[in-house]
Amino acid sequence: MWSLFQANARPLCRVKPRATRDVAAVLEILVANSCPFAVLGGGTSPFAGASNIDGGVTIDLGSLNSIRIPEDNPAVVEVGGGVVWAELYRFLDPLNLSSAGTRNSLTGVVGSILGGGISFFSQRHGWSCDNVVSFEVVLANSSVVQASQHHNAELFWALRGGGNNFGIVTSLTLDTFPQAPSWYTFQRWPMRALESIFYRLEQLTIDMPPLIQMVATTLGWSPHLQEFTISERLVATSPPELPRTQPIRNAGANSAHTAALEEYVYVKTTLEMAQKMDRMNAEGFFNYFGSVTVRSQAEINMEIANIFFDEVEHIKSARGVQVYIVYNPVTVPAMEQMRKRGGNVLGLNPQGGPLTIVNINLHWATEPDTPRMRTFMRRMIARIEDRARRDGVHHPYVFLNHCFEEQLPLASYGEGNVARLHALASLVDPGGVFQVLQPGHHKLQPTHPRLGMR
Ligand SMILES: Cc1cc2nc3c(=O)[nH]c(=O)nc-3n(C[C@H](O)[C@H](O)[C@H](O)COP(=O)(O)OP(=O)(O)OC[C@H]3O[C@@H](n4cnc5c(N)ncnc54)[C@H](O)[C@@H]3O)c2cc1C
Repeated sequence: MWSLFQANARPLCRVKPRATRDVAAVLEILVANSCPFAVLGGGTSPFAGASNIDGGVTIDLGSLNSIRIPEDNPAVVEVGGGVVWAELYRFLDPLNLSSAGTRNSLTGVVGSILGGGISFFSQRHGWSCDNVVSFEVVLANSSVVQASQHHNAELFWALRGGGNNFGIVTSLTLDTFPQAPSWYTFQRWPMRALESIFYRLEQLTIDMPPLIQMVATTLGWSPHLQEFTISERLVATSPPELPRTQPIRNAGANSAHTAALEEYVYVKTTLEMAQKMDRMNAEGFFNYFGSVTVRSQAEINMEIANIFFDEVEHIKSARGVQVYIVYNPVTVPAMEQMRKRGGNVLGLNPQGGPLTIVNINLHWATEPDTPRMRTFMRRMIARIEDRARRDGVHHPYVFLNHCFEEQLPLASYGEGNVARLHALASLVDPGGVFQVLQPGHHKLQPTHPRLGMR
């Protein structure tokens, strides 16, 4: 498992079903015996209990790993519920096809879709969840159902962002699209270009040139260089025009420019791009994620950077520390894709865009540093939210896939959507199996404090 918080859990039993009927049979036994369980997909959720459970049963879906393109519909791919994006990219890349998957390869296809799923290809195709055609799901009573826009539509809506609250997904069908290898660029800049980078990011977010498929700007603390770093990655369909220099803002009357410190331009398959991102995120550490959403504006990005400079001082000395912020634009065209197939559950409206999802990514090597890391993450989130609120640029949305365990992503989807999720849960899981027996990850408020089960 990717994070030590998860790897350190000790389940009483780990079961590895080979087919949907095995998943249904296992769930029936667990429910009949009121046995706590966790469901393991790609295993990259960072926090304890999310997909591996102490003193319960971990259902490892790794053997549900089939991938095939149906003969009667070559525009989609059918994927088993335990497949990770690396396996799917490895299958699709040689066919010059892709699907809107995450930007690292180890993440589970279903796990990421249950939280939305920001992709290399979101600008044109939307998030991972917007590219699901249908799910096969084992419900709390062990029945197996299909969910699509026209069949069990409410369940289909809820699974696209609503987390692990409704059932175990044993397979799904995803849209594919033609995709040649992409242009992948990396530029690292001197810190004095920071404001200019944020102004450029704001412009790109408002008006993304058609050839650019993804922009991500990363502000980090480098323990190796003992300094802060700012870099930008682009993914594009043809070579993007990269700035050779950036203006230094506030340089006074004599306008000054600075050149990039490093620049790489590659042509890469989707799997290769994802594997490159994997190298930024080694496994075997303690991890916290955090996420705040703001309106896309250079000024707030700069304020966030200032908070980061300040707070990093408290954790710099920890062993094995790696900490960075990724500013992820959510453009209006990407948000428009969220209306596909009746819309997803996330509550993001193109009229409210564009937005920036600010993800904080932290790892460290030794357990005794955990309390100060927790304090760091709490303070970062609270200070960014507070600043953004005061500037009138805070957005309530919390990105489930990258939020801190103490954040409440489901509650951020808006009152109407939360009420719909509760109504659905009381229909498909009246006993609260996925609320109580499966305690890990982000839950709807349990309506059943105790399970009245056999
Ligand atoms: C290095 C790294 C990079 C990342 N990059 C991105 C990115 O680019 N875009 C993005 O959106 N997210 C990204 N993420 C976040 C990732 O999408 C979430 O952490 C996601 O929850 C991981 O899913 P998983 O299956 O790998 O993890 P798991 O921990 O196995 O699963 C996550 C949750 O989903 C449940 N689950 C998994 N599979 C099923 C299933 N078949 N049926 C029912 N429940 C299931 C689990 O029980 C668990 O509660 C990244 C994470 C890491 C570690």
